[in-house]
Amino acid sequence: MFADRAKIYLKSGKGGDGHVSFRREKYVPDGGPAGGDGGKGGSVIFEVDKGMTTLSDYRFNKHFRAEDGENGGKRRCHGKDGEDIVLKVPEGTVIKDEESGKVLLDMSGENQRVVFLEGGRGGLGNMHYATSTMQAPKYAKPGQPAKELCVCLELKSIADVGLVGFPNVGKSTLLSVVSNAKPKIANYHFTTLQPNLGVVDLEGSGGFVIADIPGLVEGASEGVGLGLDFLRHIERTRILVHVVDAASVEGRDPVEDIYRINDELKKYKADVANKPQIIAANKLDACEDREAVLKRLKDEFEPQGYEVFPISAATREGVKELIYHLAGMLKDYPRETVVFEPEMSLEFGGLYSDEPYEVSYDEKTGEYVVEGPRIEKMLGYTNLESEKGFLFFQNFLKDNGILKKLEEMGINDGDTVRIYGFSFDYYK
Ligand code: GDP
Ligand code: MG
Repeated sequence: MFADRAKIYLKSGKGGDGHVSFRREKYVPDGGPAGGDGGKGGSVIFEVDKGMTTLSDYRFNKHFRAEDGENGGKRRCHGKDGEDIVLKVPEGTVIKDEESGKVLLDMSGENQRVVFLEGGRGGLGNMHYATSTMQAPKYAKPGQPAKELCVCLELKSIADVGLVGFPNVGKSTLLSVVSNAKPKIANYHFTTLQPNLGVVDLEGSGGFVIADIPGLVEGASEGVGLGLDFLRHIERTRILVHVVDAASVEGRDPVEDIYRINDELKKYKADVANKPQIIAANKLDACEDREAVLKRLKDEFEPQGYEVFPISAATREGVKELIYHLAGMLKDYPRETVVFEPEMSLEFGGLYSDEPYEVSYDEKTGEYVVEGPRIEKMLGYTNLESEKGFLFFQNFLKDNGILKKLEEMGINDGDTVRIYGFSFDYYK
C-alpha cells in the first residue's frame, strides 16, 4: 500500500532537574553544595533510509517520544541522559508543521540525519551555584522542558517525467505501455487515486522514471479533489507531459485543457508551471480529422515553446518517438535535488523554551526570580564583585528588558531579585 503522507506526534525528552544537596561527612560539619546535574533529555532525530520508498511505517505508529533525562543526585551524581529516538524516513520526506502547514525540514540533499527536536538540557545542580558571597546555595536549576509538536510527513515522489492531464485522457494507459507499471485503467474519473510510478527502460541509455499522477481537476490548487496531492507530486518532476484527448472522446477541448492545467499549476507555484513541458496529443486512432486537431494544437502551443507529439496509447503509434524525445530532453535537464528551504524555524517559533529570560515571582521566598540561558552565560563571564562588572550587569538587565518586565510585575524598591546564585535588592 502506498502511503505518502502521515501525521505524527513528536516529543523530545525533558532535561533532568539539578539536585540540591550538601556534603555530609563525619568530620565536615557544613559541607559545600554537592547536588549533581540532571541528564540531557533525548532528542527526536530524522534519518534518511535509502531503502525506504514510502511512509507506510507511519500509518499506524504515530506517537514518538524520546526519553527524559534523569534528575541529578546527591554527591555530585549526574543524571543519566535520555535515549534519543531516531525516525527513519525515505529520501525526499518533507516535514511540515501540522498547524500552519509550513515546511520545517526537507530530508533530502545534505539533510541525511538531522536533530529535529533537541532534548532539554539538564539542570545544573546546586554545586554550580556557590559564589564567594553565597556558599550554601539552595538553588538548583530545573531541566529544560520537553518540546512537543505535531508534524505532517509528506513524501514527494521523485520522478523524472510527470504525466499531467484531466481524467480519462489516457495517462494511465500511456504509462502502462511505456513502462513496467500496471496502473488501473478504466473509463471513469478518479481511477488513479495514487501516483503510479513506472520505469521506462531504454536501450543504450539509463531509462527514466515516469509518474502518472492523480487526475487534475479544476480547483486543485485550492485543494479540490485530490488536487493538492497531485500538485505535490509533480513538484519534483523534471519535465511535464500534458496528455490531452485529441479525439475529444468525452467532449473535452484539448487546447482549453492545456490552458486550464497550466492555470492550476501557476496558482499553485510559479516554478511548477515553468517546468519544461511537452504535449502528447493522445487517442489519435479515434480522431475524425487528426490533421486539423494537430494543426490547432501546434499553432497554439509551438510558438509558446511546447512541442506537440501525436500519439495513440491504444495502438502505440508515436509512443516510441515521444519516449526517445523525453530521454533526450532529460539530458538537458539534469536531475537536481531540490531541497525545500524551511519556511519556519523551530527556534523562533516559540516552541523552544530557550527564551532569553524568564521572570517569575517566588511566593515562598518573596523574591523575584530571573532565569534564562543567556543570563546564565552572562553571569559566567561577569565578575559582579567588581564595580565595572556590576555596572555591566545592570545594563544587561536594562537592555534586555528585564528591568521593565520586573516593573510590570510590580516590583517595589527594596524587593529582592534572585538570579541563579546571585541576589540583589532592587532600587529604582
Ligand atoms: P487517465 O484517467 O488519464 O489515466 O485515462 P486512462 O488511461 O484510464 O484511459 C481512459 C480511457 O481512455 C480508457 O477507457 C482507455 O482505454 C481509453 N484510452 C486511453 N488511451 C487511448 C487511445 O490512445 N485511444 C483510444 N481510443 N482510447 C484510449
Ligand atoms: Mg489514470
